[in-house]
Amino acid sequence: MEDITLRTQNEQQTISAGETFAAQLNSGDVVALVGDLGAGKTEFIKGICKHFAVEELVTSPTFTIINQYNGTTPDGDDVVIYHVDLYRIETLDELTQIGFDDMVFSHGAIKLIEWSDKAADLLPEHHWRVQILVPDDMLDLREIHIQQLTKTV
Ligand code: ADP
Ligand code: MG
Repeated sequence: MEDITLRTQNEQQTISAGETFAAQLNSGDVVALVGDLGAGKTEFIKGICKHFAVEELVTSPTFTIINQYNGTTPDGDDVVIYHVDLYRIETLDELTQIGFDDMVFSHGAIKLIEWSDKAADLLPEHHWRVQILVPDDMLDLREIHIQQLTKTV
């Protein structure tokens, strides 16, 4: 997939962008989300979860680090979604303690990781990167860059 840049003007458009993006996700995929506090990472994830018909409340697991949701694909298959927020993580040891290393490689789940740059070395080479920029602090505009990173052979 070519890199794409989307511009949204409000929270609802970012949720819709996440929902549209999610249509191409498969079980096992990792989505690494980066951007400042309040950029809209969680809103984008709400859209992804909407695509997978998640009924649980989707909020940043800032203190619990990992939330688990039960989703359903449009084909009716069950899919587990891990929503991870690394904001409070300070060392790679802490990540190991919460089982991040295995979780991030689990085939049976979709992993959505906020503040993923803190675990850059632990991510599989093949993953999606979603970067959200706030061009003007005064406005609700957001720039969403989506890349599919693959192993360079
Ligand atoms: P993050 O998870 O990146 O810290 P959140 O998704 O929790 O950020 O919060 C984004 C905040 O920005 C929300 O309060 C939302 O209402 C606001 N907002 C304003 N404009 C937008 C936009 N275009 N897209 C997403 N969020 C927006
Ligand atoms: Mg968040």
